[in-house]
Amino acid sequence: MVGTKTPFSAERAPCGKVVAGEYYRDGDEHGLRIRDSFFECGCRVIRHEFHDGSCHERAVRHDGRVVKDQYGPDHGC
Ligand SMILES: [Zn+2]
Repeated sequence: MVGTKTPFSAERAPCGKVVAGEYYRDGDEHGLRIRDSFFECGCRVIRHEFHDGSCHERAVRHDGRVVKDQYGPDHGC
């Protein structure tokens, strides 16, 4: 499978800055969905939704600090 990259010009990064970057979208025919965001400052947000509806979201700041690391169906994904 081949992912799709989409640039954006202003999104709020996990560090709080509003910067440019790009989205990465991928998935498969079974229902897996990947929705990652890569920010110009170096922050990133990784979000994976799984076949059973659960999801994993992880936000990492440009200094390497994890600001959010959640796994499971009950946190509002
Ligand atoms: Zn940042």
